[in-house]
Amino acid sequence: GDAQCKKIGEAIGLLAFQGEVVSCERYGNGHINDTFRLVCVDRGAIKPYIIQRINNEVFKDPVSLMKNISGVTSFLREAIIAQAGDPDRETLNIVKARDGKDYCQDSDGNYWRGYLFIEGATTYDKVRNPEDFYQSGRAFGRFLCRLGEYPAGKLTETILNFHNTPVRLQAFKEAVKADVCNRAHLVSKEINFVLDRESEADTAMKLLREGGLPLRVTHNDTKLNNIMIDDQTGEALCVIDLDTIMPGLSIFDFGDAIRFGANTAEEDDPDSSKASLSLELFEIYTKGYMEGCKEVLTAEERTMLPMGAKLMTYECGMRFLTDFLQGDTYFHTSRDNHNLDRARTQFALVADMEKKWVEMKEIINKYQ
Ligand code: ATP
Ligand code: MG
Ligand code: MG
Repeated sequence: GDAQCKKIGEAIGLLAFQGEVVSCERYGNGHINDTFRLVCVDRGAIKPYIIQRINNEVFKDPVSLMKNISGVTSFLREAIIAQAGDPDRETLNIVKARDGKDYCQDSDGNYWRGYLFIEGATTYDKVRNPEDFYQSGRAFGRFLCRLGEYPAGKLTETILNFHNTPVRLQAFKEAVKADVCNRAHLVSKEINFVLDRESEADTAMKLLREGGLPLRVTHNDTKLNNIMIDDQTGEALCVIDLDTIMPGLSIFDFGDAIRFGANTAEEDDPDSSKASLSLELFEIYTKGYMEGCKEVLTAEERTMLPMGAKLMTYECGMRFLTDFLQGDTYFHTSRDNHNLDRARTQFALVADMEKKWVEMKEIINKYQ
């Protein structure tokens, strides 16, 4: 918030921006960090930048987080140069601090970072047409592909067990047992929905343990508004918002994008019967994703993509239901039963995926 951003002037001085500052304004629609567009003029040339205060309530270890981003973006730069792309626009580029670090700290202890501003491209909060969703599939696919040789194990897990479905399931069961708000009797149907699928919860993590699925560099926030679309070409240009890059499974990045983007209902829809999987959107994302990375995905990863979508939806619904049982302490709620509605919408989507399972498999086969 603004109280934390008072020291932005200090941060601007500590980061190695070139030229004289001419303006600095809040920018974009991010919900996690405080983002500003900074414009400098250096010997007559306009130099636009992004400066962000890292939310260290959410990210407890901003130093490791910046080490992740620095390692990944330098690697991406090399890959983009090798493909004769534009390394200043096709990846984020950190503007280092004057002392050589990848971030700086103001005298209140806030962490700040700078990036080159990517001009001539836009992030969209809502899918304008299926083409946007296709482009986001391409962008996240290409991101995975370019990082195919990056040693994922070297990344710090900035949020522990982020997509560990069995661990989430355990937490859910404990919440049911503790039933601190005496709400469990209101949601026995939903609780049973989760428990009926218990045997599947470990499918992906088990394959990872047994070597069936490789550990990858994953983005973990594969929303449409975390890619920039080129204003001229309409094509996906760059994947941004790298706070949650962690070692993980490709099928989870794919799955979460489907969960969020191919649902016919809004995530908060009070009427869960509106939820279903749009096979049209599923196909279009798959097409883009495969174009971006099919040469690096293993056969097992491609086969497991529908399971990734199902598990991400199941896990998300379970987390909403857990929070409902615990008295709505984690997710922000603005009405009664908000978390319960959200859980029901996710479970309705899971049920619809189960109905459309064969079609989902066929679509994957078509593009591999
Ligand atoms: P979220 O709520 O998605 O987690 P966030 O708070 O982590 O967002 P970002 O996604 O990093 O913030 O940035 C917020 C917005 O600022 C982006 O959606 C994009 O519009 C803009 N933005 C971020 N980095 C750049 C950049 N390098 N060049 C141009 N615009 C950028
Ligand atoms: Mg973002
Ligand atoms: Mg973010």
